[in-house]
Amino acid sequence: MDPKQEIERLRAQIAHHDYLYYVLAKPEISDQEYDHLFKRLLELESKRPDLVTPESPTQRIGDALTDGFRPVKHPFPLVSLDNSYDETDLQAFHQRVMDGLEGRQTEYICELKFDGVAVLLKYEDGCLVQGATRGDGSQGDDITANLRTIRSLPLRIFPREHVKAEKVFFVRGEVYMNKSDFAAFNHEREAAGEKTFANPRNLSAGSLKILDPKIVADRPLQAVFYGYEHVSRSYPDSQAEALELLQKLGFPTSPHWTQAKSPDEIINFWRLWQEKRDQLPFEIDGVVVKVNQFADQRRLGMTARAPRWAMAYKFSARRAATKLERILLQIGRSGVITPVADLEPVALGGVTIRRATLHNFDEIERLDLREGDTVFLERGGDVIPKVVEVDISLRPAHAKKFRLPTMCPSCGAALEREEGEVAFRCTNPRDPEVIKRQIEHFASRGAMDIEGLGSETVDLLVDKKLIKDAGDLFNLRLEQLTKLERFAEKSAQGLLDGIERAKKRPLDRVVFALGIRFVGEGTARNLAARMGSMQNLAQADVAALQDVPEVGPRVAQAIVDFFRSAPAQELLQKLTSAGVTLHAEKTVKHNIHLAGKTFVITGSLATMSRDQAEQLILANGGKATGTVSKKTDFIVVGQNPGSKYDKARTLNVPILTEEEFLTLIEKK
Ligand SMILES: [Zn+2]
Repeated sequence: MDPKQEIERLRAQIAHHDYLYYVLAKPEISDQEYDHLFKRLLELESKRPDLVTPESPTQRIGDALTDGFRPVKHPFPLVSLDNSYDETDLQAFHQRVMDGLEGRQTEYICELKFDGVAVLLKYEDGCLVQGATRGDGSQGDDITANLRTIRSLPLRIFPREHVKAEKVFFVRGEVYMNKSDFAAFNHEREAAGEKTFANPRNLSAGSLKILDPKIVADRPLQAVFYGYEHVSRSYPDSQAEALELLQKLGFPTSPHWTQAKSPDEIINFWRLWQEKRDQLPFEIDGVVVKVNQFADQRRLGMTARAPRWAMAYKFSARRAATKLERILLQIGRSGVITPVADLEPVALGGVTIRRATLHNFDEIERLDLREGDTVFLERGGDVIPKVVEVDISLRPAHAKKFRLPTMCPSCGAALEREEGEVAFRCTNPRDPEVIKRQIEHFASRGAMDIEGLGSETVDLLVDKKLIKDAGDLFNLRLEQLTKLERFAEKSAQGLLDGIERAKKRPLDRVVFALGIRFVGEGTARNLAARMGSMQNLAQADVAALQDVPEVGPRVAQAIVDFFRSAPAQELLQKLTSAGVTLHAEKTVKHNIHLAGKTFVITGSLATMSRDQAEQLILANGGKATGTVSKKTDFIVVGQNPGSKYDKARTLNVPILTEEEFLTLIEKK
C-alpha cells in the first residue's frame, strides 16, 4: 500500500479506537493490538517526516512554550450565564421567556453544570486548530498545546453516522477532573511535602496554565462539550440537535440531559441531580437551563451581561452560615502554620461541621475574616468544608481585624515567610508541637508503621517528657508506660512490641520516616537504593544527591540541610544504638541489561506489586522513576496502564510486557 494511504488509514483507526476507549469506555481491541497500530504509524512517520501533520495521534504532546500563552480574541463573546440558587428566580426566568416569545409554547434543555474550566475550540477542515480559555469573555489564552494532551478530545473529526461537520466550527465545553483522580494527585503531592490543591477545578485550571505540555499530559484531565457554534448552516437548529451532533462528531458529551416544558419539570431534574450528585465521578454545582430552539434564542437575545434564553440553577444545600468562634493556628511537621476556623457546630450536607480550613493567611486577608464573624461554609463531594464568604452586616462592633502571626503559637520563636510562598514557618527544630507531628509521621503506616502510636499517644509521651524525639521511642520501658493512666500492661506491652518490630523496617522506610522536606516514599526508595546506607546518605553532597532519580537541586539541598542539623544527628545516633536497619538489604547486583537503565512501571502487574518490581530493578542496578521522559529506557506495562503508557508511546520508548521484563531480570 502507498505509505500515504496507510498512514491515513492508521490515523483513522487509532482515532476510532481512542474514541471507543476514552469517550465511550468500550474498547474493541486489546492494548497489544492498539500498540501494534501505533507502532506501525510511528514507523511509517519516521520514514516519511514530510507526512507528519499536527493532527496525527503521535503528535498529542508538543514542546514547551517559552514565551507564555498568546492571547486569543474570541469570534463571539463568551458570556457567562445568570445564576441563582433560588426557585423564584427560575420562575421569573420562565416568565421572561414567555413574555419574550409572546406566549408561544417553548421547551427547555436541562444539562448538568460541570464544575470545571470553560474552553472554546476551533476546528477547520475537521482538524483542531485552536483552543482557548474563556478569559474575560472577549479574549482568552491560547492553550491549544495543553488541550491536545486530553485524550478524549478529537484532534481530527471522523464523522460517524453520515454527519458532516462544517468547514469551520467552534465547540464550547469544560475541562474538569474526576474526584478520585484529584484525591490521588493531592495525596501524592502531600506525601512529597508539596502544596496541595483546594478542589478539582483549581487543579484543572492550574494544570491548563502550565507551559510544558509534557507535564500537562500527566495530569488526569477530562473534557465534556455542550456547545456547537455554527457559522453558516441551519443544522443544528436547537440545543438538543447540537448535543446529538457533538456526540456524532466524536466529542465527549454528557448523557445526562433532558427536555423540560415547565419550571416544574426543570425543578424535578434539578432535584434528581442534587440528590445524585455524589454518585457522579466528577463535581457538578447545578443544572444549566437553555431555551431549546436557536431561533427562539435569537429572538430573546441578550441583556448587557448575559443571554436571556439561559440560566444556571445552582445547588444550594452545601452552603451554610455559622459563627466563626476563633481562628486557630495549627502547626505541621515541617513547621508550616495553617489557619483553621473553629466554628459554632453547623449541619452541612448531612454532617456536623466544627472546623474548616482557611488554606492560608492570604485567604483570611482576602475575605477580611474576623473572629466573631458570621461566615458561609461550602462543601462539595469529598472536598473538605471551607469558608467562602463573610456576612459583614452581622459583624459585631468589637470584631478586630486579624493580624498576621509574627511568633510561633507553639514555641514563641519568630516566624519566617519564604520567598514566593504564602506559608509561615516556625524554623525552631526543637518546637515541641513540630516534634510531636514528626514523631507521628515517623510512626505512620508508610513509614515505621508502629501500631498503637497515634497522635494522642505521641502527645502524651512528649508532654510527660518520656520522649524528646522519635529515637527515644526505642528506649521506652514497660514500667514508664504503665505508670500512665492511659496504659494497661497489655496495651503498653503491645506498643513496645510494635516499636521493636519497627527496627526491622527496610532502609527506604527509615529514610521516609525521618520526615525530610520534599522526600516522599518514592524519593526515599531511590535514595536508599542508590546510597546503600544511612551513613552514605547523611554524608552525600548536593551533587551526589542530584544523581539520584527524582532528586532535583531543591530536594538535594533540603536533604543536606536536614543531616547538618543537630536534632537530626542526635536522632541518627539513637537509631544506630537501637539497632534500627540503616543499611539497604541487598547489595546491588550488576545485571548488564538493567545497570544504569531507567524504567517506568505503569498498570498493575500479575506476579508482583509495583513496589516489588521497583525494588527488583533497583537491586539489579537500574533506576525506577515515576515519570516518562526521553531519558526513559523502558516502560513496563501491566494491566490497565495509565497516561504514562500513552506518553511512552508518543516518545517512542521501548515497551516491555511483564513477561519480557521478567526475562530481562533473569538474564544475569
Ligand atoms: Zn515553634
